[in-house]
Amino acid sequence: MNSRYLTKSRFISAIDCPTKLFYVGKTEYKNLNNEDSFLASLAQGGYQVGALAKFLFKDGVEILDKSHETSIRLTEELLKKDNVVIYEAAIKFNNFFIRVDILEKKGNQLKIFEAKAKSYNSLLPDMEGARGGIKSEYLSYLQDITFQTWVLQQAFPKSEISSFLVMPNKAKNAEIDGLNQMFKITQDNKVILRIPSDVDIYKEAQVILAKVAVDTLVSRIINGPLLYPGNQDVFSNAANKWADAYAKDIKIPAALGKHCKTCEFKSEVGGELKSGFHECWKETLNWTDKDFNEPLVLDLYNSRRKDEYIENQKYKIKQLTRDDFKEFNEDPGVEGLSATQRQWLQVDGIPKEYDQGGFYFDKPFYLLQKSKWNYPYHLIDFETTKTALPFYKDMRPYQSIGFQFSHHTLDADGNVKHANEFICVEPGEFPSYKFVRALMNALSNDNGTIFRWSHHENTILNGIREELNLDPEPPEDKEDLIEFIRIITKGGERDMVDLCAISSKCFFHEYTNGRNSLKVVLPALFKASPFLRDTYSNPIYGAPNGIPSFNFKSDTGFAWFDPSSNNYDPYRILKILAYDLLPAGVEEFDDEEVSIIAEGGAAAMAYARLQFEDLDNETRLRIKDSLLRYCELDTLAMVMVVQAWDHI
Ligand code: SF4
Repeated sequence: MNSRYLTKSRFISAIDCPTKLFYVGKTEYKNLNNEDSFLASLAQGGYQVGALAKFLFKDGVEILDKSHETSIRLTEELLKKDNVVIYEAAIKFNNFFIRVDILEKKGNQLKIFEAKAKSYNSLLPDMEGARGGIKSEYLSYLQDITFQTWVLQQAFPKSEISSFLVMPNKAKNAEIDGLNQMFKITQDNKVILRIPSDVDIYKEAQVILAKVAVDTLVSRIINGPLLYPGNQDVFSNAANKWADAYAKDIKIPAALGKHCKTCEFKSEVGGELKSGFHECWKETLNWTDKDFNEPLVLDLYNSRRKDEYIENQKYKIKQLTRDDFKEFNEDPGVEGLSATQRQWLQVDGIPKEYDQGGFYFDKPFYLLQKSKWNYPYHLIDFETTKTALPFYKDMRPYQSIGFQFSHHTLDADGNVKHANEFICVEPGEFPSYKFVRALMNALSNDNGTIFRWSHHENTILNGIREELNLDPEPPEDKEDLIEFIRIITKGGERDMVDLCAISSKCFFHEYTNGRNSLKVVLPALFKASPFLRDTYSNPIYGAPNGIPSFNFKSDTGFAWFDPSSNNYDPYRILKILAYDLLPAGVEEFDDEEVSIIAEGGAAAMAYARLQFEDLDNETRLRIKDSLLRYCELDTLAMVMVVQAWDHI
């Protein structure tokens, strides 16, 4: 039996780019989505939402068999009944095959319920934007259920079919503690249920999950043109064309564009697995491996014109000219570098008069910012998580939880200190209010300037302020906590300074390719700054008379730079110490993916592990220790950035 069916996930992949159908499922091609699937499912909670959605119905029957033939046969048997609810119903029509999360049959009526880990707010229910189009955040979910509805219509043309998305409702609070922990995810993406006997999980599913009727939008998608890279088509034409190409394993010619930037079929040139990305670009442009040594327009910083450049056959950054940019002045003014000026640095290189040895640094701009700051400087970083299913009673789906922060200080004499830290990862203990209270205590001893990297800290604090306001049983110091948050967030008297925004305005290193993440900027600064290299090649960090540290204390101290190596990245050194953040059985990330750990995704995952898993005490302590070290390095990295800029 032919098993090359167009499924819902392949259909969505094809809307992203039809050429992907040729690579999908082939083990000889690298697929980053496969590798990240465990991490992604933990982070997004899709399997958990799917498992909870089954409790919206009583007496449903699950098709457990995974093979096409058997699952289709079992579904057909069940559909002979007048009334039935089927989980994972298997439906085939021509070259199409779908597994419907929940299919309810009542006489001649068929209802599809598709569970999605997408936040929905029943108080703001609109899925359409101001101009009547479908909001982009819902589009792929709606296209997915439209595909299922369309296949079902073909298979059962005489039935009345209606469709519902099932999504966690942000407007509802969990009525029980530990909902998330009742749906434990295993390595192979199975969900193990741990529902205590006194919990009415059917009731909780009705509370937390919204069933949203989407028939109108589904029929609009079926009848409207379907847009995809390089073309548009009537829905049924596109579906049939793609199903045919997939069944025959024919590659649909690549339409190169900005969407290639996030192509999951990408490996390094010369890597073990084939790279679909390189194949597409080589076949379309007649390129060789060498062509990829030069930066592509896909790498251009913060540009919305990548499609336009590619349409104009400009594939490499070096092909761009001044005419490809809107009018701009090459000399940065008092406002620092604009996005266009940064892009132009990528294209044309750093002008000679500004080149400080492979990097650009606008010291006057930096000093102007610095003149507004007060010592001691406070550098802070948060680790947070948000999950589809709440961990605690009275929490809403996707409510942010602050569970950890690190805090370094830098005083006017240049003294650095890991001044404070907070972590609360104990199972069942709601951390956010304790987190803000500890932060308030850490920052309220003086009026020094507080620094963050990017928006995250501001967003989280505003989220916690909202929770405090909504909490029916707030803590006694609610007003103090709210006032503290007001003062240090945007618009407050002691508004945190965003070092990332400052970096984008005043610092550019050829090594960073225009990017501004702390994990990219820090190694670039180690290359640029003799001060950093000299200071941190000495084992002063955590040493008895060196820089005080909570998590790197040792008699001999710790060095972050080895002059005999060409490693300029302290995060690489830390990586060796941080494997415990990963779930058991997950292999080490390769270098390209270090950022996944370092950007905090692994911290959220570690938090979930600590809430879920029956870990022995030793493992629990090791994971906690890794979390503490990572977060400490994040705020130390921010200190290093300021020190480097101070000394350039
Ligand atoms: S490289 Fe581009 S064209 Fe090729 S599969 Fe990926 S997204 Fe599609």
